[in-house]
Amino acid sequence: MRLSRSFLPTLKENPAEAQIVSHRLMLRAGLIRQTASGIYAWLPAGLKVLRNISQIVREEQDRVDAQEVLMPTLQSADLWRRSGRYDAYGPEMLRIQDRHKRELLYGPTNEEMVTDLFGQTVKSYKDLPQVLYHIQWKFRDEMRPRFGVMRGREFLMKDAYSFDVDYASAVATYRRMMLAYLRTFQRLGVRAVPMRADTGPIGGELSHEFLILAPTGESGVFYDAALEDQDWLDEPVDTNNPDALEAFFNRVTSPYAATDEMHDAVAWEAVPEEQKREGRGVEVGHIFYFGTKYTQSMGVSVSGADGGQFFPEMGSYGIGVSRLAGAIIEACHDENGIIWPDSVAPFRAAILNLKSGDGLCDEMCEQIYAKAPEAFLYDDRPERAGVKFADADLMGHPWQIVVGPRSAKEGRVELKRRATGERQELSVDEALALVL
Ligand code: ATP
Ligand code: MG
Ligand code: MG
Ligand code: MG
Repeated sequence: MRLSRSFLPTLKENPAEAQIVSHRLMLRAGLIRQTASGIYAWLPAGLKVLRNISQIVREEQDRVDAQEVLMPTLQSADLWRRSGRYDAYGPEMLRIQDRHKRELLYGPTNEEMVTDLFGQTVKSYKDLPQVLYHIQWKFRDEMRPRFGVMRGREFLMKDAYSFDVDYASAVATYRRMMLAYLRTFQRLGVRAVPMRADTGPIGGELSHEFLILAPTGESGVFYDAALEDQDWLDEPVDTNNPDALEAFFNRVTSPYAATDEMHDAVAWEAVPEEQKREGRGVEVGHIFYFGTKYTQSMGVSVSGADGGQFFPEMGSYGIGVSRLAGAIIEACHDENGIIWPDSVAPFRAAILNLKSGDGLCDEMCEQIYAKAPEAFLYDDRPERAGVKFADADLMGHPWQIVVGPRSAKEGRVELKRRATGERQELSVDEALALVL
């Protein structure tokens, strides 16, 4: 993209309405604009970020055999009456009426819809397990929408739902999903620590929230440093082997980790002092096993091996895709702006033409840009060098390719790595080899 022609409205000043750094930077870097309280439009660069996050989430869901569908945002109130949640859900649910006075709602989550969809389709235990997911907008009429996309009212979520024949199989599905989550967050360039979460009235141990550490997080977190620095991408867990899955699960869940809601001061005492990590965290994912709660209440059964009917065991698995855009910035920024992880960045590199209008500089920039126009943001504006440097730092491209009249004469560019500030003078080919 050429910056001179792009819809990328950067701001020099901090917007007064933004209280936390990610919100400020998302507005200043031209990623989003608010259109109503807690509702945002995603501008071109922001949309690229959202798509990059979604794509990594999708690849890791597919890897554990979850199948992508796309369920609608609008749901019928009758579906929710079947599970008994229509009245229970409360004022966070946006309720709508159509012209025939039929009651609808804008989905805050999809357990009911997916259970109904499953029930219409799957009739036998032979077709289990099934895991369905979608990446779709949700609406929750949050009491206090705030922190930009971190607590929006309309937000993008990946939600997956699993159906298994029995508890053992449901647990295996849950553990596979946990691995998928650890891999997803690692690929997104952040560390999200899984913490035991409240399972509410259903009880049991099978609910975990994934939290990214950030001083502005809404939850207090306590965890054992043993949970840091594990490499889940290199981890060869055989997800078809229940023993391997169990060993993996124990490794993740035996070190202490809890949010303030679940914190156990006695167990915390037992963690060696030098291993204790304490701070704030942002919930970016939540996985939950809830057995037959919805299949039973909605009357969705399938035939078993013995010929009788039974209710499949379910779990649900959410990732806050749009919240992650903010949470990643909370974890990856400095005083000059965003520092995008390579995997999420809207552009691989900015091309900074320090002397737009200079024949040699223009030609060199055009040549570089032509190699991969979708990967570059070419700053071809007739601005001062200082403005271009500041905007590139603000927008957080992993690399900056700096083209100035002196080095251009020698056919060379300066390549800056945003994360480290490291600069090197290279030939165009050498720079492209690193960046692309
Ligand atoms: P929170 O505790 O922050 O209100 P939640 O526990 O209500 O979140 P879940 O029902 O577990 O949320 O939904 C799954 C994921 O959706 C969350 O882990 C979070 O990442 C994301 N999410 C939930 N509410 C919002 C929101 N208002 N804005 C953006 N993302 C959200
Ligand atoms: Mg909530
Ligand atoms: Mg929560
Ligand atoms: Mg939650």
